[in-house]
Amino acid sequence: MKTDALKISVGIPTIGAPVLEKQGDLTLLKNMLIGKDFHWQKTIEALLPGEIEITEDEVFKVINRLPLEEYLKCVVGSEMNPEAPPEFLKAHSVISRSWALGKIIGVHDHSEEGKVNLPYAIITWEDTCDHNGFDVCSDDHCQRYQGIQPIPQSVRDALMATEGEVLISPHGRLVDARFSKCCGGKTEVFPTCWQPRDEECLESFEDPWCNLDALDKEERTKVLKAILKDYDLVNSGGFTWETTVTSEEIERNLLQKFKRNIGKVIDLIVISRGSSGRVSELHVKGSKADLLIGKELMIRRLLADSHLYSSRFDIEPIAYGKWMLRGHGWGHGVGLCQIGAARMALEGYDYREILAFYYPGSRISKEIPTNN
Ligand SMILES: [Zn+2]
Ligand SMILES: [Zn+2]
Repeated sequence: MKTDALKISVGIPTIGAPVLEKQGDLTLLKNMLIGKDFHWQKTIEALLPGEIEITEDEVFKVINRLPLEEYLKCVVGSEMNPEAPPEFLKAHSVISRSWALGKIIGVHDHSEEGKVNLPYAIITWEDTCDHNGFDVCSDDHCQRYQGIQPIPQSVRDALMATEGEVLISPHGRLVDARFSKCCGGKTEVFPTCWQPRDEECLESFEDPWCNLDALDKEERTKVLKAILKDYDLVNSGGFTWETTVTSEEIERNLLQKFKRNIGKVIDLIVISRGSSGRVSELHVKGSKADLLIGKELMIRRLLADSHLYSSRFDIEPIAYGKWMLRGHGWGHGVGLCQIGAARMALEGYDYREILAFYYPGSRISKEIPTNN
């Protein structure tokens, strides 16, 4: 079987009962809800291709079934910068298709194995869990889907050039093709961030491509511009960064984000690190109690108002209740490094070489894996 025969079903939330209007082969949904539970939540009109089904679900009242390739046009078009180098867009098309196919055939394990929630330890992570009754939702939780969008020609070309292609591991499985903004010079392994198991083709290795500090300003801007819309904001693309954090900030985050009060935060001690150096367990010493916290995303949330760039950092106490954090990378660092991949594309590597570099041992195939 080939991917071009496949369809994906998308669960779409609406406000109130769905208001639909047929427009030729398409259906106009007049009250699609976007940004659910965010302050910018609103309704929009969306033009949907494919089949429409109304459900009894409380939130996702519409299910839209459409060909996988049609769906990818809608989502890759809205996620990617159309100015990005073509080989980078092609690499991303293969990754997005692998992700969506994984949802359709349900290959990824979302077990809670390894999660801990005890008085003295919180070890947890977030992942997109499987939906009931459909493959993916239309919100940012999965990938943003708002029906038919104006698709930039560059994205159309990238999807067409890689039509049906997905990433397959040496054992014939679909690769869980993770990616992040910048690995910071070394990629991370799966269990530092999620379930305690090794994933094929997600390995830790040195990445020379994302070191934008080594480039002059003009070259650096060229790489950042290729993938970021607001590239001025992040001068080094997250390759290196530094920030400070105070005990008051950590205490506030512990209370608001983790519902814990351990008194005054006295000390921060790194207990374990992943292969790239990302902290996966942090011991927070308080005046009333101690707390062990992990994995990487939870540590990033603990030490910043929103998120720290990454959990690959060194801690240095600079005053009582104040620490300097010097870090590398932006995001979890597992799988493809977007800044490194953009630079490889600008240097003339094609998408096959980019994918082979970031997912070692993988191959590109148009066949759907059968042994998952
Ligand atoms: Zn979802
Ligand atoms: Zn990198």
